[in-house]
This record gives sequence, C-alpha cells and structure tokens, in this order.
Amino acid sequence: MRIDCKHVWEHISDYIDGEVDAELRAEIDRHLEHCEICSAVMDSTRNVVVLVGDGRVFEVPTGYSERLHERIEKEIVGASGDD
Ligand SMILES: [Zn+2]
Repeated sequence: MRIDCKHVWEHISDYIDGEVDAELRAEIDRHLEHCEICSAVMDSTRNVVVLVGDGRVFEVPTGYSERLHERIEKEIVGASGDD
C-alpha cells in the first residue's frame, strides 16, 4: 500500500484524532518522514481550512506558507482523473 499527499490530507484529521487504523497510520508516518509538505501540514494542523477541489473536500491547515498553499492547490487541481 502506497499513499500520496492527497491521501495524507484526506486522513489528516482522523490521524490526529487517532482514528486511522494501524496500517494506515504506519503509511502516513512513513510518508511524513520524506515529505516536507505533509510534515508542514501536520505540524500546523490546529488552524484548519477546508479546500474543495476535484469535487472533494480537503482539510488543510492555514499555518503554512503561501508557497506550500499554492503547491497543494496545484496538486488538488491536478488530481482529476487520478482515481
Ligand atoms: Zn506528502
């Protein structure tokens, strides 16, 4: 099982609440080790804003830099047809 940034963002609130299963938590932990974007997102999850893209809702924190914000929005917009 391999997860990408979008999966991390989808599950980030459950992760913080401890409501993801052990396998998914391990995958997220592994992802965070090498992904500075998601690490930054995870580090600043207290202030959460909802982004809607690709017909789906993503909760991401407001505390990260504009550059990260732009990249995340680009990732979400570019996600169409991913599934
Ligand atoms: Zn990531």
